[in-house]
Amino acid sequence: MHDRCAAPGGTGEIMAQTAKQRQWAFSARSLAVLYLILTAGPVLLASLSGGLNSPTVYPVLARATGVAALAMFMMQFATSGRFELISGRIGLDRTMGFHRLAANGALWMILLHVAFFLFRGRDGSLDVLWQRFVAYMTTPDLRTGIVAAGLAVLLVLTGKHLRGRIIPYQAWRIGHGLLAVALVALSLQHAFAHARFMADPFGATAILVVALLALTSLLVVYVLRPIHAFRPGFKVESARALSPTVAELVLNTDRPERFTFAAGQFVWLTIGRRHTVTDNPFSIASAPSDLPRLRFLIRNAGDMTAAVPHLAPGTPVGVDGPHGSFTLDETGPGPLLLLAGGIGIAPVMSLLGELSHARDRRPIRLIAAARSRADHIARGEIVALMDGLEFEAIFLADTDGGDDCESGTCRREHVSRLLQGLAPAETTAFVCGPPPMMESAVAILLQAGIPIERIVMERFDFDAGHDAVCASVRHRFIALMATVFASVLTVALIAAT
Ligand SMILES: Cc1cc2nc3c(=O)[nH]c(=O)nc-3n(C[C@H](O)[C@H](O)[C@H](O)COP(=O)(O)OP(=O)(O)OC[C@H]3O[C@@H](n4cnc5c(N)ncnc54)[C@H](O)[C@@H]3O)c2cc1C
Repeated sequence: MHDRCAAPGGTGEIMAQTAKQRQWAFSARSLAVLYLILTAGPVLLASLSGGLNSPTVYPVLARATGVAALAMFMMQFATSGRFELISGRIGLDRTMGFHRLAANGALWMILLHVAFFLFRGRDGSLDVLWQRFVAYMTTPDLRTGIVAAGLAVLLVLTGKHLRGRIIPYQAWRIGHGLLAVALVALSLQHAFAHARFMADPFGATAILVVALLALTSLLVVYVLRPIHAFRPGFKVESARALSPTVAELVLNTDRPERFTFAAGQFVWLTIGRRHTVTDNPFSIASAPSDLPRLRFLIRNAGDMTAAVPHLAPGTPVGVDGPHGSFTLDETGPGPLLLLAGGIGIAPVMSLLGELSHARDRRPIRLIAAARSRADHIARGEIVALMDGLEFEAIFLADTDGGDDCESGTCRREHVSRLLQGLAPAETTAFVCGPPPMMESAVAILLQAGIPIERIVMERFDFDAGHDAVCASVRHRFIALMATVFASVLTVALIAAT
């Protein structure tokens, strides 16, 4: 760790400082309400303007689901995990989890849109349905809508099954973005050419507002962010391998006033003067007091990470952020329990650095797990950093143990041992590690009496996990989707009667 400046001191100060350093973000509840307004709202406006009207119920349902599907696909640009306003409080993993769930929801809306048009008459025999289907497929006017529906299926299927598997991740990401833009452009053309409510100022304005939001999201991600990421002027100061699988990257800047962050946050890094479409997220492993230096601990996972130890000093690095809520601002005066698995030690190092800098008086406990003793790349540094604080740690290694390291994975007894004499109900736990470790850690923490709302997680993954915390969030996401569907269908049924 690098030189630190004079310590300020105190738990209250650390929390206030952290809250100030973090950008404001919407709460989960406000996001849910906004999503409902922006997806079901255009349907409501369309119904008020009479644009959904039809003598029979099926065309009304078909139009309503078509409008909702378009709005839902356009909202996907805003939920792509790039906006601190959106993912700042709920987390990148959950934002991406919602993005996937909402993509499936939008696809189901499109399927309903098509199905309601097919079933529009009284005669629903297979022959009639097939004839109608063929007639739609061969109507030149509907071509853009048909291609858009095909793209929607392709987008959802490739998002689920191809990401980083058959196609390299970066190529997939560019293709995914282009497919999404094509899908929305074709859908808008289809809607403006065919939906009657688009001729009405209310209905058209509602859809255009959502389209504008999608366009703004695109401009921010692909035009403003690439410029902004290089403004702080970070360059590689040093890069070296710490172990066969982990590298340390240190950045420095001569414009420190252009970047602040809270301990535990992450940034999207673009190495070299390239477009930020090639960026990847990494937790900052240093404390804010180490600025203008930023330190990262990076595990070799693919193309970009493999190149890190060989980066030449002076290489420009785009730093987009800070992002994330793995921070100390809502911890309260109770004890802190930090659980790190493997490279999950990176944001935990940042938290420890901040606590040490502030000479925090709270009891601080750490369980750091790694594959082997040699993989505990920061052990000595942690011991030196926390000297003089109310700190206890257990280091665990899967394969080998020793005097300074116990063998095995994190179990209930480790947590109980560290929490002896402390109040679990007042303890805030921070967990970062590989998905299976996080799942078992959450179960252990809940058994130990730590309240679910006091468990803060950073997942080095682009999807929500299967632990109790993520499951409760997923249920809320499903409830939100169900509300969108129920609202759209209810508005349509009311309009039809
Ligand atoms: C919030 C967060 C913080 C992280 N912090 C750290 C850290 O401090 N240290 C560390 O070693 N790792 C960290 N990671 C993981 C790190 O981002 C990936 O290992 C890295 O992106 C792999 O990039 P690559 O170019 O080497 O590999 P690639 O070959 O490009 O990708 C390897 C796999 O990672 C996935 N992936 C990569 N980038 C993305 C992306 N932008 N969106 C979705 N999926 C992607 C893909 O599934 C791909 O198959 C973090 C991840 C997240 C989400």
